[in-house]
Amino acid sequence: MPGLMERLAAGPVVCAEGYLFELERRGYLQAGAFVPEVVLDHPEQVTSLHEQFVHAGSDVVEAFTYYAHRGKLRLIGKEDRLEPMNRQALALASDVASRHGALLAGNVCNTNVYDPADPATHDQVRAMFEEQVGWAAEAGADFVIAETLRYLGEAEIALAAIRAVGLPAVVTLVVDRQDATRDGQPLPEAARRLAGAGAEVVGLNCSRGPATMLPLLGPLLAAVDVPVAALPVPYRTTPAQPTFQSLTDPSLPDGQAFPTALDPFTCNRFEIGAFTSEAAAAGVRYFGLCCGAAPHHVRAMAEALGRTPPASRYSADMSKHVYLGDDPALARHNLAYRGQL
Ligand SMILES: [Zn+2]
Repeated sequence: MPGLMERLAAGPVVCAEGYLFELERRGYLQAGAFVPEVVLDHPEQVTSLHEQFVHAGSDVVEAFTYYAHRGKLRLIGKEDRLEPMNRQALALASDVASRHGALLAGNVCNTNVYDPADPATHDQVRAMFEEQVGWAAEAGADFVIAETLRYLGEAEIALAAIRAVGLPAVVTLVVDRQDATRDGQPLPEAARRLAGAGAEVVGLNCSRGPATMLPLLGPLLAAVDVPVAALPVPYRTTPAQPTFQSLTDPSLPDGQAFPTALDPFTCNRFEIGAFTSEAAAAGVRYFGLCCGAAPHHVRAMAEALGRTPPASRYSADMSKHVYLGDDPALARHNLAYRGQL
């Protein structure tokens, strides 16, 4: 089976993310601490979402170990669940990947422990990444994703941990309101340093919607020779509110739409298709969607790349719609009524 780099050499790769938000919406995960206990409590739901994302066109099954790190488990007083949770998440993803010929990705993310000014935290972070990456390697991961890292320094520690086990690394930074890493590095420079340190793929994920991630991609593409990744959140961010955390809705008591009232900002599938086409034309090679993504978004992304995943069998065909269609067999009195709907 072709690995990540062989697939990237042959064409774009799609990797669905966003398990945390989708399983929260489905009622199996609590917003706030956002710890993926669902992998132990309702593994069938995780498997189901993996299956749906692959059906919709994801080439990768990302083990749902996002926030399944020692810092989070300590926060909720359940450190004893850390290793079972990681091993189970990897086993669930491995099962789906092997049945569908998809790639298995391990995953590490922001620890919320890292402090650039405190070297002691760097050691803590390194230990957290090393144990998670070790479990991913033991589970047979094809590569490891280090994601939603807002500090370049933390990303470099994650990358080193992944390289130490000999697996390819996809490193995606999260960009907040300022167009730089939280430790103040310009994004092209951060990407250059990560690629120089051996990341197979570098790019951006989460936080920014398509409209406010797209302008950041050109300079990244110009900065590195390795494949560039773009995995926005499917929300309608704007120059004034460039991240999904900054979106405000006056119907809410405090105006704060993140994280549980983002629904009215959700991108439709056509916006995701348009973003994908534009990013592909610019040279992006590794695609996906983060928090908020649902299978129909992933299918739109895959189809914009010229794919026909299994779910494309059910892509919209409005020709036989009772009011909006144009099939000669449709009743004329209904077609004439469309303006009254
Ligand atoms: Zn996200």
